[in-house]
Amino acid sequence: MAKKVKRARPRRRPAGRASRSTPPRVAARSAPARGSGLLERLAGGAVICAEGYVFELERRGYLQAGAFVPEVLFEHPEVVEQLHLDFVHAGSDVTQALTYYVHREKLRVIGREQDLVPMNRAALSIAKRVARRTGTLFAGDLCNTNIYDPADKSSHKEVARIFAEQVGWAEEAGVDYFVGETFSWGAEALLALAAMRAGSKAPAVITMAMHREDVTREGWSAAEVCRRLEDAGADVVGLNCHRGPKTIMPLLHEIRAAVRCHVAALPVPYRTTAAQPSFMSLTDPGCDHARAFPVGLDPFVCTRQEIFAFGKEALELGVRYLGVCCGAGPHHIRALAESLGRRPPASRYSVDMSRHAFFGTHERIRQVQVDYRGKL
Ligand SMILES: [Zn+2]
Repeated sequence: MAKKVKRARPRRRPAGRASRSTPPRVAARSAPARGSGLLERLAGGAVICAEGYVFELERRGYLQAGAFVPEVLFEHPEVVEQLHLDFVHAGSDVTQALTYYVHREKLRVIGREQDLVPMNRAALSIAKRVARRTGTLFAGDLCNTNIYDPADKSSHKEVARIFAEQVGWAEEAGVDYFVGETFSWGAEALLALAAMRAGSKAPAVITMAMHREDVTREGWSAAEVCRRLEDAGADVVGLNCHRGPKTIMPLLHEIRAAVRCHVAALPVPYRTTAAQPSFMSLTDPGCDHARAFPVGLDPFVCTRQEIFAFGKEALELGVRYLGVCCGAGPHHIRALAESLGRRPPASRYSVDMSRHAFFGTHERIRQVQVDYRGKL
């Protein structure tokens, strides 16, 4: 058992923080100062956290869809490190350790429980190296265990154990803060938060993932679960994964109005709809209406413009902890950063059509090319 640590953090409202009626104004122009902690950065403006590592690694051919366990941490650590660097290059302020699904239960499912400790340590050390080299925040990560069952008390014990041990390894690694993500049971999220509070003084970001229903699996509204998490001591509450920008936004309005603390939003970059509000529910009319999740989602991928529009809208609402989850590539993170008025290093290569062979306006683009545009 991790020993109980009394947090010194008073329940105060940081400068520029939201009240229930007036969302915080955000200095969107400049990136937060390097070297300060999560809460200091949030007090000064938005913080971008790239998520969605497992989907991107799957696309690159280093991770199997289905179990979604990042065995790549052992097999190709250099690929994980490069992906962290790609996301930072594209504008992420955070390097989040790839401990998503590196918990005891998932490793049991793939028959690798004996690798639990070294795999967590590998993920933490790769992320820490990138974070310290790039001046980004180093985040630990807990996630859904898939065994939480409200009717089974023994599952609560096992969930608490899973969280406590992962908090311990992350704390040992010296994370700047914790992320607890992709929970669809509010009670499971509260257990994750309790483990963070018991094992560390670092700030805690907790994000729920809503499936088709607008409520958690025990029936709590988005506003209610976030209020409970705030009351239990979370520093940032909100939503990640499952929902695309269009179907996450209405819930964000409810959350922003319900809590005083900072709010997080990290949708999946897919065109979810009112009828199919989560990426697991999307069916593809081009493929006999088959379920698109997880490897047939390509026709639904959001454009950079859509992620740009999401970033602007979320920030205007007063949501400061921003990112994109499963399905995100570095180009989505760059679009999000640019929506905040930033120019991350990857913006050096943002689109410029003025020198395009047909659509360009550069003086060297010949009339014979311009005249042909109508036939393209
Ligand atoms: Zn996700």
